[in-house]
Amino acid sequence: MSLNALDSLIETLKRLPGVGQKSAQRMAYHLLQHDRLAMPRLAEALTAAAERIKHCERCHTFSETPLCAVCADPQRDGRLLCVVETPADQAALERTGSYRGYYFVLLGRLSPLDGVGTRQIGVAELLARAAEPGVEEVILATSFTAEGEATAHVLTEALKARGITSTRLARGVPVGSELEYVDLGTIAHALTDRR
Ligand SMILES: [Zn+2]
Repeated sequence: MSLNALDSLIETLKRLPGVGQKSAQRMAYHLLQHDRLAMPRLAEALTAAAERIKHCERCHTFSETPLCAVCADPQRDGRLLCVVETPADQAALERTGSYRGYYFVLLGRLSPLDGVGTRQIGVAELLARAAEPGVEEVILATSFTAEGEATAHVLTEALKARGITSTRLARGVPVGSELEYVDLGTIAHALTDRR
């Protein structure tokens, strides 16, 4: 079955998080009726992003260069390595301005039922990165959801087995929350009070 252009646009918009049938329709009609010029620009921006944005080879966050800006910055504190689930979580931590170490981005969290295991989140790469000389503390800043907690637990054990110290963001970040949606003050606090 092939969709007409309008249906196809709506179906594509529905792939975005939080966008259901109604919002997708609203966006499509809005663009067609009020902002046609934005349509090719949007298409161009999407194509450019998909082509240019890759992953930093060191921390796995999004980056247009082989090394992201954080990994390429020699002024950061090499003793600290903060593990987050997503580039959005990393951005949230960066916005607090209270963390000066480096990152490792899992690009997910353990979820065996969805086929996400230790290989998919790059545990081997993380362990190698954490074992590099100079790293003194690995801060586990995975989300406070059941899967985020399970991921932190597995990482703690794997790091411990290699004699690497890890800490966890302090509670205070509400249970069940994704870091990117938590206010900056709370994240900064959870970072300072880590244990
Ligand atoms: Zn990086």
